Formats: sequence, C-alpha cells, structure tokens
Amino acid sequence: MAKVFYDQDVNWDVLKGKTVAIVGYGSQGHAHALNLKDNGVDVVVGLYAGSHSAAKAQAAGLAVKTVADAVAAADVTMVLIPDEKQADVYQSEIKPNLKPGSALAFAHGFNIHFKQIVPPADVDVFMVAPKGPGHLVRRTFVEGGGVPDVFAVEQDATGTCFDLALAYARGIGGTRAGVIQTSFQEETETDLFGEQAVLCGGICQLITNGFETLCEAGYQPEIAYFETFHEMKLIVDLMYEGGMAKMRKSISDTAEYGDYTSGSRVVTPASKQAMKDVLADIQSGAFAKDWLLENRAGGRAHFLAMRRQHAEHPLEKVGAKLRDMMPWLHDADQKD
Ligand code: NAD
Ligand code: MG
Ligand code: MG
Ligand code: MG
Ligand code: MG
Ligand code: MG
Repeated sequence: MAKVFYDQDVNWDVLKGKTVAIVGYGSQGHAHALNLKDNGVDVVVGLYAGSHSAAKAQAAGLAVKTVADAVAAADVTMVLIPDEKQADVYQSEIKPNLKPGSALAFAHGFNIHFKQIVPPADVDVFMVAPKGPGHLVRRTFVEGGGVPDVFAVEQDATGTCFDLALAYARGIGGTRAGVIQTSFQEETETDLFGEQAVLCGGICQLITNGFETLCEAGYQPEIAYFETFHEMKLIVDLMYEGGMAKMRKSISDTAEYGDYTSGSRVVTPASKQAMKDVLADIQSGAFAKDWLLENRAGGRAHFLAMRRQHAEHPLEKVGAKLRDMMPWLHDADQKD
C-alpha cells in the first residue's frame, strides 16, 4: 500500500519567503494561486498579454505578469497551461528566465515523461497533481478541507525537492486530505490509460453501444437514453460513495443478478486484451507521438472532425432534448 502524507509530515519552512509563479489561470491555476495565497505564500500569476483570465486574477487580489516576468521573479514555477501548449511556452518564456536552484513544477507528467520539456540540471523538478478538477480544489479548501494529491520528484538539484513538493501540496490544501507519492512515469501512464480505456473512452463507447442496441431493436430513443445514459450518474454516485458494494445494495436483486451474469458477456476478455493494447501504445509513446503530431502538423483537423462527429450522434440530440425537461440539471452545471 502507498504511504500517505498529511499536514504534520510537511516541512513548511522550505516554502517560507519564496515566490511561486502560477503559469495559467484556468481550472487548476486559479485554485493553486488562491489556495497558496490564502496560506500566506507570495504568488504571482503568469499569463500572456491579452488573456481574459488576467482581470479575474487581479480582481482576486493576485499580482499578474507576463509568463517571462513571473518566472524570472519566482523560486517555484508551476506550469498550469494546457499540456499540448506547455512545450512551446517553456521554450520561449520559461526556460530563458528559470533561475538556477529554483523549481519547475507540473500538475501532470506528460511533457516531462515524454521529453517535450527537458529542464536544465540545476533546477528541481516536481509534480503535485490534485485528484480532482480545480473548482473542487478551491471549494474544498475554502470549506476547510482539501482534495487528495499525488506528488513526484523527477529531479532533485537542491537536495530539498521532496520537502518542497510536499510543502506545495500543503499550500494548496492537499495534505489536509492526504497525498501519495508517485513518479512522473506512473502518473502519466496511468492517467492516460484511465481516461482512454475506462473513464472517458471506455464509458462513452459503452453507453453509445447500449443506446444503439436498444434503438436498433426498435425501442424509442428517449427510453433508450434514460436506461443507458441518464441513470449512469445515479449508479456512479453510489459507487463513488461506497464502492460497488453500496451500489449493489441499493439496486434490486434482479439488477444485481443481471450485473453478475451479463457484465462479463459485454465487457469480455477481448476488451481486456484491447485495454492492454491501449496501455502498450501509451507506454511505448505511440499515443503521445500521435497526439503531438495532431497538434503540430494537422491543425487538429482529425481531432476537430471527431469532436463534430461525436456531437452529432443521435444520443446527444435526444439527450439535449430530454435534459431540457430537467432544468435542475442545468442548475448543477452552474453550481461548480
Ligand atoms: P485550463 O485549460 O483550465 O487552463 C489553461 C490556462 O492557461 C488558461 O488560464 C489559459 O488562459 C492559460 N494559457 C493558455 N495558453 C497560455 C499561454 N501561452 N501562456 C500563458 N497562459 C496560457 O487548464 P487545466 O485543466 O487547469 O490544466 C492545467 C494543468 O493541470 C495540465 O497539466 C493538466 O493536465 C493538469 N491537471 C488538470 C486537472 C483538471 O481537472 N483540469 C486535474 C489535474 C491536473
Ligand atoms: Mg486524470
Ligand atoms: Mg488526463
Ligand atoms: Mg432502469
Ligand atoms: Mg440490492
Ligand atoms: Mg432495473
């Protein structure tokens, strides 16, 4: 079992008197910046000229500079812009201003693990990655709690990088909930696998196949939507709260019996083999190469075509219509 680190395991002194540059003020950026600031850390936000986020950050009482100036002023630079943009911004604005003995930090391992960013040997390199979206990182912090993080040390130039990573995790509230050590490799590969095989790719395709099966058998799409999609949230909420056992306790015995007898007929050993193939493409770098090429050469043509195609699926059309009958769902959109 992994060791879990809490507030009392943190040497907070390593962050004292230091300036942290938060590059990017999106989902993670705003949460890291505000939580650190509330913990008394000197924070400067780095954004490109004309960024819409600048006014928001200033209104929250944060100093905003160009990325170059923020990095030049910083002892710790946390890179929180979209992963596919990080390498370019690193080359043009971060690298030329990175002070020897300072730290370069990330919330996802992609660019370091796949060598899109190769930091100089004289800086610390660490990761603190919250296991939740930024609005939750901020909200739980304000409420006195925190979202668990994983953290990793890739390069320890100063001899204090481990302590610094843990202090940063405390700064954003992570050690209130508990943080677990990982490596850039483990975090990157497992994150990509989870989102591709299970959380995003796997679940969306499972739902789509279920919806199509009912529609092709002549059932009404509205009914198919409720049975294969809408109820997913109720089921996942129960699993999230209390494991599969809590979900199975809550459903009928009929549903539970069908769960055991049919689940493995649908998601078969062949699916598991396909998962292993997906993992192999992640581990070999084939997926990363493909995605980076898509961003560089193709102007994202294939990505945008797939986005359009998936948005036009009948499941999405009927879903939008039915969700309009449930206005409280739109309220939930706004809540976070
Ligand atoms: P985001 O898309 O929400 O925010 C990106 C921010 O970067 C925006 O403020 C944007 O204005 C800014 N930006 C874009 N280009 C820029 C440039 N050239 N110079 C300066 N600023 C620029 O991003 P996010 O979802 O917060 O992701 C940031 C990092 O956090 C990524 O590495 C991601 O993998 C990681 N992460 C995200 C989540 C999540 O739930 N969103 C969770 C854990 C880790
Ligand atoms: Mg993830
Ligand atoms: Mg991810
Ligand atoms: Mg039902
Ligand atoms: Mg039951
Ligand atoms: Mg039922």
